[in-house]
Order: sequence, then structure tokens, then C-alpha cells
Amino acid sequence: MIRNLLCMTAPMREGFDIPCHEIGPLSPYPAAALVAGLHGDEINGVFILSRLADFLNGVEAGNYPELQLVKPVLIIPAVNVLGVNLRTRTWPFDKSDINRMFPGSTTGETTQRIAYAVLEATKHAAHRIDIHTASVDFEEIPQVRLHGPSAAERDSAGWFGLTAVMERSLSPVFTTTLMSSWKAWVGDSFVLRVGQAGTVQLGHCQRVFRALVSFLGRAGILEGVQMGSEDEDTCYFDKASAFRVFAEKAGTFVSDRQVGSWVMAGQELGYIYDSFSGNIIENVVAPVAGLLTGIRRHPLLFEGDLILRINRKP
Ligand SMILES: [Zn+2]
Repeated sequence: MIRNLLCMTAPMREGFDIPCHEIGPLSPYPAAALVAGLHGDEINGVFILSRLADFLNGVEAGNYPELQLVKPVLIIPAVNVLGVNLRTRTWPFDKSDINRMFPGSTTGETTQRIAYAVLEATKHAAHRIDIHTASVDFEEIPQVRLHGPSAAERDSAGWFGLTAVMERSLSPVFTTTLMSSWKAWVGDSFVLRVGQAGTVQLGHCQRVFRALVSFLGRAGILEGVQMGSEDEDTCYFDKASAFRVFAEKAGTFVSDRQVGSWVMAGQELGYIYDSFSGNIIENVVAPVAGLLTGIRRHPLLFEGDLILRINRKP
């Protein structure tokens, strides 16, 4: 069923809605709540969740007789509906970041009312997932992010079957994110970071789609899921495991390496060319052996720009 999470009016145009999918048995609260598009330029998550809704609606329609949705799932593919249309990260009217507006309020400005509605709809779910990407300049491996995780969250993070689980302490600075508001409620909270903003990276999206289906299977929400034998081993990385390479010189950075590959210390991962003469001015090499978890995709570099990140195996 499609429901409007929030209907809003605008001064000189017709009103607009934030729609969501409620799929599965009727219940006061969803068992799993999945959210994407808090940032309007992060299209991977919007695409993944719209495809997941289509798939689960297909399960409900009996298109996959071996599968049964036994608990309700709430899916909000695009919170920043106007930002998705205009390809902006922030809310277009006032440029505010919706993921800095939580817990929100019913009487505040528009983005505070959006935040409130999203939190109300999702906070009672036993499993909560918020999908983001890196910036438009940078690509990250599809990963689970845990913030100050409980033992139970650490365990269930493995249900996605993704290679990388990144653990962070709960930020004392960003206390107005959806994740930090979720942490006050009983249940598991995850951020998934998938690829790069501004584009759909199909391989990453397909991988994360399978990860979400696995997760729903292992959580006992979707019955009959064949657990993928292709699942990689999950590695839990803390902040200290990350090694970053920054540009020593300005220029054009080009690399054909893929995030998610294991690299050796000293391995060449790309080149910085002089943007005018075209000669190579720097070989970019891996500082340590580990997993290539992030790489710059915008080619033009200034000195000091982040080029890549490698996480050493725990
Ligand atoms: Zn984001």
C-alpha cells in the first residue's frame, strides 16, 4: 500500500507529498523501516529502495511462491522529494540539510516537520536502515556503518553479507541525524553507504539489493530466502584501520581500480597527470595492504585532496 507520510503546501505551486510503501501484514508498527534520499542527490539509495518495494510488492502479489513476507516493512525511497527532482543534496527552498533536523517537530519549519514525520514512522521498527552515498566526487564501497553499536547490532550487521562493516563511536557533534535519533529507541539502527552521489552505480545497487533481501531473510521478516553462498566474509573495521592518501600535487587523477578490491602495500593504484602537459607527476601507491574502500572519481585535484582510502584487515 502506498501512503503519504506527509503532505505539504507551498506558496505558489500545488502541494507536494512524501510517499512511502507499507508492505506486508497489517500491524501498528513495521518490523523493518528503510529510508533513503534524505540527501536528494544520493540516487543509489532511492533506486535500491524503489526496486526493493517493487520486489516485495511482487512477493505479496504471489509472483515468488517460495517467498512469504510475514512481517510488515516500511519503505521511504526519497525523503527529500524536491531535492531528488532538482538534483540537490539539501531541501531546495531553504538549502537546509534534512539529516541535521532530527528529531524534528510538528510546529517547526518544513524540514523539521519532515524529520518528525520520518522519525515517527520509523522509530518503533525493530530494524532501521538509512541509505546514503559518499559525495559526487568520491566513491565508497557498499558498507554497513555502525555508530556506537550494541553487541546485537554488531551481530545483525553481518546479516547483510557485505564485506565491510565500519564502526564509529556515536558522534557528539552530529546529534541531529536520523541515526542519532534512532539510537534512543529499542532496535537495530544501520546506515548503509553505497557508492557515489549524483549517479546510479548499477553493480553497487544490485549488491545492496541482495544484501537487503538477505537481511530481511535472516531477520525472519521474509521467509523462504535462499541465503547467498556468494556472500563475502564480513570484516569489522574501526576508525584506526583506515589509511588515507592525499594528493601531494595538483593535477588530474585517473585510476581504473574498483572499490572492494584487496590491494598490497606499494601497489600502484592510479596516476596524477600534469593537467596541461599530460606527463605523469605522481604514482599513487597503496600505503598499506588492505581493502580499497574509497576512491576519488572527480579527476581534478588540488594539493591535499583525499585520493583514496584503504582499510587494513582487522
Ligand atoms: Zn547522505
